Amino acid sequence: MTYQLPELPYDYSALEPHISGNIIELHHGKHHNAYVQGANATLEKLEAARESNDYGGIVGLEKTLAFNVSGHVLHSIYWTNMSPEGGGTPEGELALALKEAFGSFDNFKNQLTQATATVQGSGWGALAWEPLGKRLIIEQIYDHQGNNGQGAIPLLVIDVWEHAFYLQYKNVKADYISAFWNLVNWEDIAKRYIQAKSVSLG
Ligand code: MN
Repeated sequence: MTYQLPELPYDYSALEPHISGNIIELHHGKHHNAYVQGANATLEKLEAARESNDYGGIVGLEKTLAFNVSGHVLHSIYWTNMSPEGGGTPEGELALALKEAFGSFDNFKNQLTQATATVQGSGWGALAWEPLGKRLIIEQIYDHQGNNGQGAIPLLVIDVWEHAFYLQYKNVKADYISAFWNLVNWEDIAKRYIQAKSVSLG
């Protein structure tokens, strides 16, 4: 069983004008694919280490595995978090949960926007379900695997690596984040929320 690059649920240009087709094509076909290939290559190296009982490179391999698997996980969620018919606000159970956790939808949106916009270097902003406390939290993720708590399940992720926006937005990350909100696929996030709630760490 190896990791595989998922197909996009829309055409490269389907998210225009908010995100250009050029960005999506490179982001999916080159960047995301590199994490998939990197994860598989690292699993092979770990298998070789087991066979030879040579763990001299184990620290680097474990870091590389965390980086690439996390990159694959986050990008797989990111693509389905967006839709050409996205935007607006959530409904139903998710809407109530966001209000309960953050006070209001606007509070939630503002906190996630702030957490995402202020990532230092490469990273992500994320809405996640934390199964032990059974609560929605916002995380500021560094690279793909840093600064996020164990166990929390990402539901809505915003990629703010420069490869996600620079070709279109240059250095104005805030405009890309504003545009992203027009693409948010609330049905996907509501579905992820319901699934995540069934996980127990207690
Ligand atoms: Mn990316």
